[in-house]
Amino acid sequence: MSEKHPDTTSARTGERNRDDEWPRPETQPIYQTSVFAFDDVDDVVDYYASRPNGRYLYSRNGNPNVTTVEEIVARLEGAESACFAASGMGAISAAVLSVCKAGDHILVSQDIYGGTLVFLRNVLANFQVSLTLADFTDLERVDAALAQRPALLIAETLSNPLMRIPDIAGLAKRAHEVGAVLMVDNTFATPLGLKPLALGADLSVHSATKYMGGHSDVSGGVVCGTREWIDRIRGVVTAVGSNLAPFDAWLIARGIKTMPLRFERACGNARLLAAYLSESPAISRVWHPSRPDHPEHDRAVSMMPDLCGAIVTIALPDSLEQVNRFMRAIPTIVFAPSLAGVTTTLSHPWTTSHRGFSEDERRAFGITEGLVRISVGIEQIDDLKSEFAEGLAVFVI
Ligand code: PLP
Repeated sequence: MSEKHPDTTSARTGERNRDDEWPRPETQPIYQTSVFAFDDVDDVVDYYASRPNGRYLYSRNGNPNVTTVEEIVARLEGAESACFAASGMGAISAAVLSVCKAGDHILVSQDIYGGTLVFLRNVLANFQVSLTLADFTDLERVDAALAQRPALLIAETLSNPLMRIPDIAGLAKRAHEVGAVLMVDNTFATPLGLKPLALGADLSVHSATKYMGGHSDVSGGVVCGTREWIDRIRGVVTAVGSNLAPFDAWLIARGIKTMPLRFERACGNARLLAAYLSESPAISRVWHPSRPDHPEHDRAVSMMPDLCGAIVTIALPDSLEQVNRFMRAIPTIVFAPSLAGVTTTLSHPWTTSHRGFSEDERRAFGITEGLVRISVGIEQIDDLKSEFAEGLAVFVI
């Protein structure tokens, strides 16, 4: 079968298999079961011996709805294999635990998602795994930090909330020169915007809670890579029990069907909204890779010209009181500290996603009290512009 365009692959997620027995529902049913039945002892012995496709034992080890989303995401990412977990953090922690052992060192992008940092600092530190943070957009700093011989590098394709874009191919080359694994969190770019494995990364991870689910109603996470890596990671997910539930897999499958439409529209809206907001005297800076003043604008144009992300971050007057005034003046845009649903939402990195960093760390990489992160949705752009104009009117004297 020839490989289809990602829009087609996504739209057909969970389509019925022609070999299915009757009845033949067009969409995959939900296999809401914790366990699967066997004919007799010989049958279960055969299952363990050959693990045939389409056979399952226990939903913690695997479930047809989970297999469906794993196969589709592996195709979209250009990966040999993929393994889902119950959340983005479930996927990230399983990947880290598969790569690292006691005594190892991890090199992490300084503006990594706060939950990843909390896992590394608060949980892994108890297992003698040490950590260095570095600015991954500056390869000289990465080179300096590599002297500590990390076993793992963790980067993000588009960072939160400033949408910084590291040179993934450059990071992969450096990681491999010291025998390290490069894991890339591709949540903000989606496999439609970027494919980290094609750029040399070993593992690509997503919070499927975001654009894959797409409707702020489900949690999930996925790691993509070679079959060998994914088998190891699946072993951890199964052992610790961070598996994705069948209904959640079904919701993510439904989300993936429309992900290309939603993401394309949201990225287009983000570009237009960023241009509009950059005209406002109340905003001292707008961060979006489509803006010529974004530090990685040229990289965004060459790597992801049309789909350079749907997150726009704005710098308001630098106090929590001013941010509160703005948020109260824009009641139609919900303050909800997540992202990537169909509606536009606001978040405040200083008090939510980045509260795990010290104040000095936050300021050092540009997270200030006045920053507001906008997860741009699929609404009509003129409505968004007028709603933001109303919110920003509180700053007009
Ligand atoms: N990676 C990124 C970039 C995120 O923004 C998040 C959550 O916001 C995660 C990982 C963790 O995902 P989850 O909340 O599904 O565990």
